[in-house]
Amino acid sequence: MNTGERPVDLRSDTVTQPTAGMRQAMMAAPLGDDVLGDDPTVIALQERMAAHLGKEAACYVPSGTMANQLAIRALCGAGDEIIAHADSHIIHYETGAPAALSGCMVRAVCGPKGQFRGADVLSAIRPDNIHAPASRLLSVENTQNRGGGSVWPMELLRDVTSAARSAGLLCHLDGARLWNASIASGVPMREYAAIFDTVSCCFSKGLGAPVGSIIAGDKATIRKVVRYRKMFGGAMRQSGVLAAACAYAMQNHVERLRDDHAHARRLADAIRECPGLSLSPEQRESGVETNIVYFDLNDGIGMDGQGMCAALEAQGVRMLPTAARRVRAVTHLDVDSAGIDRAIRAIRSVVRA
Ligand SMILES: *Cc1c(COP(=O)(O)O)cnc(C)c1O
Repeated sequence: MNTGERPVDLRSDTVTQPTAGMRQAMMAAPLGDDVLGDDPTVIALQERMAAHLGKEAACYVPSGTMANQLAIRALCGAGDEIIAHADSHIIHYETGAPAALSGCMVRAVCGPKGQFRGADVLSAIRPDNIHAPASRLLSVENTQNRGGGSVWPMELLRDVTSAARSAGLLCHLDGARLWNASIASGVPMREYAAIFDTVSCCFSKGLGAPVGSIIAGDKATIRKVVRYRKMFGGAMRQSGVLAAACAYAMQNHVERLRDDHAHARRLADAIRECPGLSLSPEQRESGVETNIVYFDLNDGIGMDGQGMCAALEAQGVRMLPTAARRVRAVTHLDVDSAGIDRAIRAIRSVVRA
């Protein structure tokens, strides 16, 4: 039992606390009323992110879910269909919002690591007749969360988006962890963004800001997004106090994502050596590409994912059971190298017990 020491919290990269420097930036930010359009800190963040992503405009929103759902609302109509991977966030973790808020269906396609090919898109596109929903939007996640934080190869992204465009579909990039993808691959964010109509990015994941996401696209689309943001209840007032944290994170917390990725690899190496545990098949094969590690509990270990996480919790280490026999660990800026050592010791002791 750890007494007094702060837990090593690997449940998600969303658990980070704002740093002292970030809090100072928040305190110092000039503020206005963003619903009236005059919060200078929000305006600056939006302009900076639009430029960073090579898009005409951007809109600051409370969450990544809202960013994705605003893109869907702005680009699709009722009865339209969205093509996305079966493991995508918009299917699993957004409460059915495409159906509830935009009247859209989602057609799931499959493939390893949360990825698929242009041929899969082509075979998912509906025929143009009165029986079928209208295929309207391709939505791609990079990095792919449930696929193990996997990074889409640029040529595969070109393959799926050009397949979509050949049939007149629009393309949305769920880039909640696009910074992680960019740091891991060396591909600039704007190169990813260039082949999509809309891009969403979260400041509250690896970047360590307390609140906020951005949605970027052309001016006409972002005008619609701003209108629907109001409709969805996501227009905020002195939100510059939050946007300041995001701007600070862009300045100070991007390059350090390399550390998170190295920590995740080191954790995965230790798990690989642990009897009774196996990295997820995909990560066993391709390695850990960014900051997310998934591992499975083998038969005979006498514990399920929940039991494992409860035992780890008692040792001051938090992870998330994501299926009966699967556990997720995510590295981030509040877990240092010593924290990874502690997590490895806890895993070893729980497995031995
Ligand atoms: C976290 C996440 C989001 C958005 O989540 P919020 O909690 O609503 O900010 C969207 N897509 C992916 C892939 C994510 O991991």
